Amino acid sequence: MLLKGQLVLVGGGHAHMVTLANIRRFVDKGYGVTVIGPSDYHYYSGMGPGMLGKTYAPEDIRFATGNVVEKQGGQFVPGSATHIDPKLRIVKLASGEDIVYDVLSVNAGSYVPQSLVTEDKGDIFSVKPIETLQKARSRIIELTSQKKILIAIVGGGPSSTEIAGNVWQLVKHIQSHMPVIKIFSGGPFMGRFPDKIRKSALAIMVQRNIEVHDGDYVKEIKTGTIRMESGKTHLADVIFLASGVRSSAIFRDSGIPVGPDDGMIVNKYLQCPRHPEIFGGGDCIYFQDEPLDKVGVYAVRENPILCHNLMAALEGSVLKAFDPGGPYLLVFNMGGGIGILNKRWITFSGRLAFKIKDYIDRRFMMKFQAIEQYGGKDIEGVSSENNPIFR
Ligand SMILES: Cc1cc2nc3c(=O)[nH]c(=O)nc-3n(C[C@H](O)[C@H](O)[C@H](O)COP(=O)(O)OP(=O)(O)OC[C@H]3O[C@@H](n4cnc5c(N)ncnc54)[C@H](O)[C@@H]3O)c2cc1C
Repeated sequence: MLLKGQLVLVGGGHAHMVTLANIRRFVDKGYGVTVIGPSDYHYYSGMGPGMLGKTYAPEDIRFATGNVVEKQGGQFVPGSATHIDPKLRIVKLASGEDIVYDVLSVNAGSYVPQSLVTEDKGDIFSVKPIETLQKARSRIIELTSQKKILIAIVGGGPSSTEIAGNVWQLVKHIQSHMPVIKIFSGGPFMGRFPDKIRKSALAIMVQRNIEVHDGDYVKEIKTGTIRMESGKTHLADVIFLASGVRSSAIFRDSGIPVGPDDGMIVNKYLQCPRHPEIFGGGDCIYFQDEPLDKVGVYAVRENPILCHNLMAALEGSVLKAFDPGGPYLLVFNMGGGIGILNKRWITFSGRLAFKIKDYIDRRFMMKFQAIEQYGGKDIEGVSSENNPIFR
C-alpha cells in the first residue's frame, strides 16, 4: 500500500503516551508510524524513587513502548536520535541510520549534566534515565549487606530529597547496615519551594539522621570523592547526581531554535515555528508563551493536543492550541510511606499524601500498561480527545 505520509516519533516519553496508544488510527488512515527509542521500555519517572525504595518493582513502572508500537502496525527502531536535518526531513541515529519523516514529534526528555564528574570508575548514578535507579538499587543492596557505607546525593531539590528518602526506605526494608546519607544541596535545601514544604522536608530528613549540607557548592566529583568549592573533600561509596536537568541537546546540536534551557522553542500548537512539520512535548521543549516547569504533569497534559496536532499536520486540518492549565498537584515521595503534598495554598505531609500519589501514579500506569495487552483499542480513557485524566 502506498503510504500517505510518514510520522516519526523520537522518544516514547510521557507526552507521547496518547499518540502511542492511537498508532492504529494513524496506520488505518494510511500513514506510516516509526518510533525511535533507546530502550524497548519507557519508565515513569514519578514512580522512579519508589522503585529505588522497593515500593514498586521495575515492571510496575514501565511501559512496553516497542511492543505497543509493533502491535498496532507501527515500526519501532531501537536507538538514539542524535541529529535532525529539517531541510532533508531526516532524523539521524547514533547507529548511522537515517529515518525520513513528513511530520516529526520529539519527546526525548532531559538529562542530568555530568560536567562536575571528572572521573567515573563506577558507583556514580544520575537520577535520569530512571533505569539507572534500578542499577543503583542493586548496588546499594550489595554494599550495605557487607558494611556501613556512605551515600552522597548532589543536589538539593525534589529529586535529591526523594532519592534520600527512598535510599533510607530501601535499607530499612532489607534490614541491612543503614548508610550515612548526606545531601549536598549547594544553595538552600528545597530553596525554590514555600517555607512549609521546606520545613516538612527538612524535618523528615532530620528525623532519619539524613545530613543536609548547604552553603557550599560541589566543584568536582570522582568515584569515591566529592570536592567542594571551599576546598573540603568528602568521601562517598555511592554518589547520586540530582543537581537538576537540561533539555535534550538534540535541537541545539541540529541548529533548531532553542530556549535558554536548550529546549526546542514551540508555539501554542507545540510546533516549531521555523520548521512547522516538527512538534514536541515534555521536558525537551521550551513553550515560548509561558515557559513551563520540567515536570511530568505538563508532558501528560500535552498528550491529547500533540496527538491531535500530529494527525492534523499529516491531514492538513486545523491544529489545536495547548493550554498549560492552572497550578498542578505536587506530591513528593519521601519514603517510609510518607509524602508531602502541595496544591495552591494546601500543603500537608504524612501517609495520606503518599497514598494520594500512589493511587494517581498506579492508575496512570495501569491505564497505559493496558495498551500493551489490547493494542490501543477500546481502552477507556486513552483516546486523544476530551480526556479528563490529562487535565
Ligand atoms: C527522580 C525524579 C522524580 C520525578 N518525579 C516527578 C513526579 O513525581 N511528578 C512529576 O510531574 N514530575 C516528576 N519528575 C520530572 C519528570 O521526570 C519529567 O518532567 C518527565 O520525565 C518529563 O517527561 P518526558 O517524557 O519529557 O521525558 P522522559 O521521561 O525523560 O522521557 C524521554 C524519553 O525519550 C527517550 N529518549 C531520550 N533521548 C532520546 C534520543 N536521543 N532518541 C530517542 N529517544 C530518546 C528516553 O529513553 C525516554 O523514554 C521527576 C524527575 C526525576 C528525575
